[in-house]
This record gives sequence, C-alpha cells and structure tokens, in this order.
Amino acid sequence: MITILSGGTGTPKLLQGIKEIIDPTELTIIVNTLENDYFSGVYVSADIDTVLYTMSNQINDELWHGIKGDTFITNEQLEKIGAPELLRIGDKDRATKIQKTELMKKYSLSESVDIQAKKMGISSKIIPMSNEDSEIKIVTDIGELEFHDFLIKHQCQPEVLDVKFSNVSPSEGIIETINNSKAVIIGPSNPITSILPILSLEGVRDALKKTYVIAVSPIIGEDSVSGPASKFMKALNIEVSPFGVASLYEDFLDNIVIDEKDIDKIKDLKQIVNKVTITNTIMDNFKAKKNLAEIILKEVL
Ligand code: GDP
Repeated sequence: MITILSGGTGTPKLLQGIKEIIDPTELTIIVNTLENDYFSGVYVSADIDTVLYTMSNQINDELWHGIKGDTFITNEQLEKIGAPELLRIGDKDRATKIQKTELMKKYSLSESVDIQAKKMGISSKIIPMSNEDSEIKIVTDIGELEFHDFLIKHQCQPEVLDVKFSNVSPSEGIIETINNSKAVIIGPSNPITSILPILSLEGVRDALKKTYVIAVSPIIGEDSVSGPASKFMKALNIEVSPFGVASLYEDFLDNIVIDEKDIDKIKDLKQIVNKVTITNTIMDNFKAKKNLAEIILKEVL
C-alpha cells in the first residue's frame, strides 16, 4: 500500500501520473479538509472533490476544480436573481455537492466520500483528513479574512501576516493507513494550508517517523509554481525554497524531490534530509506527470 497526502492542485497533477502506473487498489489518498465549508447551501470540500474528479478522469485540469466541460446555468441564474456565488460552481459539480450534502445528513464525511468514490468507479481509497469542521483565517494587512475571501474575493493580493487554523481530530483509519503503508508520498501541495493541517492531526507525525516518506517540493527556486504558498510561508517565517519545505517535514522526511533548477540546493538539503532526488518537477503535460510519478515510485517500491 502506498499513501499520498494531498491538497487540491499540485498533488492531483501527480495523481494523474501515479494512477497510470500503480494498481489503484494499492493507493490511499489522505486529503486536506481545512477549507471545507457551506457555500450556496451546499457542502464544499474542494480538495476532496478535485481528488474524486481526478481519480475518475472528470477533472477540469485547467482550473483544478470542477468537472471538465461543465455548464454554469444555475450559477448564472443565481447571479441574475441577485444571489451571486463566491465560488463559481458548475452544474454537474453542484450535483456532486448536493449529493454529498444530503449523504452527510446520515453519514460522516468519510462515509459520504466512500459512497461517492464507489459510484464514480474509483478503486483507490480516499480518506478526508478529518470528519470535524475546521476553521482557517488568513491574517492580512486589511484584516482577518476567511480563506475563500482571501483566495477569490481578494485574489490573494493582501499582504499576509499570519495563517491560523483550528486543530481537528484525524478521521478513522488515518494512523493505521500510514502504519500499514510501504511509503508515504507528500505531493507538491501547499505546505501551509494543505499539508500542515494533515501533519497537525494527533499521531500523524509519529506514524510518519516510522514510515518511509518522500516529499515533492511545490517550491521551485524562490517561488511556488502556483497559488499563495510562498506568501503563507513568508508570513510564518519559513524560507521560501525547497529547503524551507523540507524543514517543515524534517523530523520524519527520508527523501525530497526537487526540481533540476535547484541543483545548487543539494548541499544544504543534505544536512536535514537523507536523500535528495533531482528531476523535472513541473507537471505541465501528461508525460511530465508520468515521468515524475515513475521517479517517485522507483524510490519507494
Ligand atoms: P490548493 O489546495 O489549490 O492550494 O492546492 P495544493 O495545495 O494541492 O497545491 C498548491 C501547490 O501546488 C502550490 O504550492 C504549487 O506551487 C504546487 N504546484 C502546482 N503545480 C505544480 C507542479 O507542476 N510542480 C510542482 N513541483 N508544484 C506544483
């Protein structure tokens, strides 16, 4: 069994490669739930839905959320009747979210995701990191903002001073899954808002210390490939570099995969990680995703 920790953009790109190489029944994906909340009357678990759509080949992989080729009739109608949405939810995507909202009246988030994954024909196990509601606040120069307000309404523009999130309990099976894994892959997801919330769950860091862990840096050079990761790292006084990423995982990390552009960082990284693997980590086409997946799996299988 291989386990991968995921957010909603960088790691799903890698999953598109991984799922073509290994038996999907041998893969478990633990997914961030920190930003989950209700929007337009439905429960939105953005990272989970992105993983569901990625594993069932439905993902809009230009935006990394929603279903490819979706329509926006409901979204446009809401706008017309004076109820514009903060999140632009497509019609098919909304159906997934309505179903999940209804399922959650009877089942936990984990059970609801299990049901949806089966209906989508996914044979990998997808585990939300927690079944509890969490809260995240971005402290900025214009005040404390909700995560999606910072991301969408303010387009990540304000200066970030701090990132605060609540602690939640791990969902059932997370620790056992890590303990039973041959290796854990930390995908190139936002280290602060996608990976740290998973690492903050009780028992996760200890379990990772006993397992082989390989992480892919979402930072190349001195910036993130996309999104606000570098802003969040700066705010928390973490060096924006593959070294800064590795320092967050230092207590359990066995191998870090960095981009070939960062070859000069090997010496520093070797002081805190046993092994540094160098390759192209920009996944801008399917071949690059598959190549990166092959290199990682060669290190762990
Ligand atoms: P979010 O939930 O949308 O924030 O998505 P994630 O947390 O999964 O991913 C965001 C991170 O993915 C950003 O920090 C990016 O730098 C990283 N990322 C996106 N695409 C790539 C890529 O092709 N290669 C690498 N190395 N990192 C990437």
